[in-house]
Amino acid sequence: MRIVIAGGGLGGLTCARVLKAHGVDAVVCERDAGPEARVQGGTLDLTVDEGQWALREAGLEAGYRAIARPEGQDMVLYDSAGTLLRQEITPDEGEARWGRPEADRPALRKLLLDALPESSVHWGHAVTRAEPLGDGRHRVHLSGGESLECDFLVGADGARSRIRPLLTDAEPAYCGAHGMELVIHDADRAHPTASALVGRGGFSAIGDHQTLSAQRNGDGTIRVHLALRCAEDWPETSGIPFDDPARARVALKELYAAWPTEFLALLDATSGPVLVYPLTALPIGLRWEHTPGVTLLGDAAHLMSPFAGQGANLTMRDGAELALVLAQGGDVRKFEEAMFDRAEPAAQMSADNLELFLSDGAAEKVRHLFAKMSGEED
Ligand SMILES: Cc1cc2nc3c(=O)[nH]c(=O)nc-3n(C[C@H](O)[C@H](O)[C@H](O)COP(=O)(O)OP(=O)(O)OC[C@H]3O[C@@H](n4cnc5c(N)ncnc54)[C@H](O)[C@@H]3O)c2cc1C
Repeated sequence: MRIVIAGGGLGGLTCARVLKAHGVDAVVCERDAGPEARVQGGTLDLTVDEGQWALREAGLEAGYRAIARPEGQDMVLYDSAGTLLRQEITPDEGEARWGRPEADRPALRKLLLDALPESSVHWGHAVTRAEPLGDGRHRVHLSGGESLECDFLVGADGARSRIRPLLTDAEPAYCGAHGMELVIHDADRAHPTASALVGRGGFSAIGDHQTLSAQRNGDGTIRVHLALRCAEDWPETSGIPFDDPARARVALKELYAAWPTEFLALLDATSGPVLVYPLTALPIGLRWEHTPGVTLLGDAAHLMSPFAGQGANLTMRDGAELALVLAQGGDVRKFEEAMFDRAEPAAQMSADNLELFLSDGAAEKVRHLFAKMSGEED
């Protein structure tokens, strides 16, 4: 059976690797020109039952433990006046450390790539569309005019999937907020104050309709994220010159002018471009009629905003489960049902969290929530 996987992100590569572990070859068509072609983004926490389970199925548990940072789970959460709302410190010993350890996204991708034959990933091969040939077979068209035929096609090509139209008309919609990412380089040596605020893991602060967070990565950087409730065309209408990072930083600081100066020092410590992106999501609970010979996984199937922090975990679980079904000649319908059931509550949580964290009086609501969870309030 010839399997083509569109997209070599974490989902597509996990699928290819678990197939390989069961003696099945797959061709991964990846749009990026190579593994280093694009900045891959920050650190990810992998859960025991999703990301870590998938890596066990891929035979990569030991490799994962070597790159994972349990202490990265440390977190502090403040309100925008500087009041501490919550702090979590990871134990130095014991299995509890391995609940949701952090690992850098490029290191995870490398772990998977190193465990695949070089020839299985076709870099610089963007899928433009796919067409059914009957009997579950498909022809996959690639940029540059080439095409490939396959017996099974996996759409693991993320938010703007070119395979999704074969199964559903659904498209991602704007969630009412934008995210921004900036990077602090050489944090410990060059920016010790910012580094101390972030500690071994993550720092977050919540204001009305806006958040500021920062997360330590394993490569000496700290990634600073801003999220803001705003109109979809905000990057164009805000007057912030995103193509001039130094001036953009000054303008962004003005948006946070009433926040503690030590929090804003995080923005001062950043350098390089300001990445701004709309938060989009597919409809919660999206399902489609099973079509033989093709399916979707990960963001292509259930894109959600990062407010539940589960997208990478879900895509890896999807990739590994689908590979097991394909390798064992199982029913892809069952894989799809399980994926739909898993994704729906996560997508709901992501939408609810976005509403909560970017609402009026968000910090007070979050403080009540933690007090309720710890039994201090009804
Ligand atoms: C700021 C931010 C923070 C996040 N934090 C977390 C977190 O802490 N924890 C978590 O679990 N999740 C997190 N997520 C979500 C997570 O990043 C995604 O859910 C996950 O990366 C999805 O993986 P994927 O493989 O399905 O898709 P992608 O990562 O989008 O990979 C798709 C791949 O397909 C390729 N591709 C795209 N189009 C084509 C094409 N036409 N032809 C060929 N190749 C193509 C792309 O180049 C890419 O390599 C975060 C997301 C964001 C934006």
